[in-house]
Amino acid sequence: MRKHLLSGLLLVLTLFVGAVRADAPAASGNGVAFSLIKTGHVHAQAGLVYSGGSLFQKIEINHVAVLVQHPHGSFLFDSGLGRNIEAQYKEDMPWWARPSFYYEPPVTPARDQLDQAGIAVPRIILSHSHWDHASGLVDFPEAEVWITAEERDWDRHPGFPRAFPSQVTPASIRWHTYELEDKPYFGFPRSLDLFGDGSAVLVPLPGHTPGAVGLLLTVASGKQYLFCGDTVWSAQALKEARPKSLLASLIADNDREQTQQAIELLHKLMIQHPGLVVVPAHDAALQDTLGYFPQWVR
Ligand SMILES: [Zn+2]
Repeated sequence: MRKHLLSGLLLVLTLFVGAVRADAPAASGNGVAFSLIKTGHVHAQAGLVYSGGSLFQKIEINHVAVLVQHPHGSFLFDSGLGRNIEAQYKEDMPWWARPSFYYEPPVTPARDQLDQAGIAVPRIILSHSHWDHASGLVDFPEAEVWITAEERDWDRHPGFPRAFPSQVTPASIRWHTYELEDKPYFGFPRSLDLFGDGSAVLVPLPGHTPGAVGLLLTVASGKQYLFCGDTVWSAQALKEARPKSLLASLIADNDREQTQQAIELLHKLMIQHPGLVVVPAHDAALQDTLGYFPQWVR
């Protein structure tokens, strides 16, 4: 029994490693599409994933990289579990966290899936630097890795629950630190319009980690998706503005109060923009409806 409880907790933590709907301001989504590259998964009790969830219901937790296609360049939002996850996990996941934070085989790294399809990715943008988001960085030595200055600064002393040293210290990673601009956008105080056309805009979501960001994407059809990283692990939680379970939040959220403020902002946006789809990074049930690489959402 105790072992089951522990493994439930660990599953929640797995989430730590750690997607939805809304209408953002008018933006040109001309030619923009995305595809969810599923690199791995795990299962966890809903009650651990979000406050108020059932402890008797097991839900699937995904580890994905989001491939975004834009006429002026493709990029990945997060890298998912990479080719070296086994060694990284062995080296840097502390024993006490392993029951809560783990992954289930098989792992299908983004790099392998992209190579097979002949797709090159010149840039990776991190939502934040937790282990299940940064694992694949070393698989893309030619790519520029974008991270906010706050997040990079936070990673100066890596180690769980922060980033894994094995994932963020290799000299082969081409880091590019950046700052969001003081341009309010879509209810957020700051933003960064990646292509200058409003189709892909980074917005601040601090709390889970200090420099976490979300990606507001307008695809070719005009539909809008807000990838919110690990602010919540479940879209269901967001509907009710519920935080992660207390235990999960205590371990995974760097600033619980700030995380809740981010959750409430996302909750408000979902009400204001009923067409907006907010996509938590780990919500397999929601992501199943969007399909996986090589399927595209346009
Ligand atoms: Zn995280």
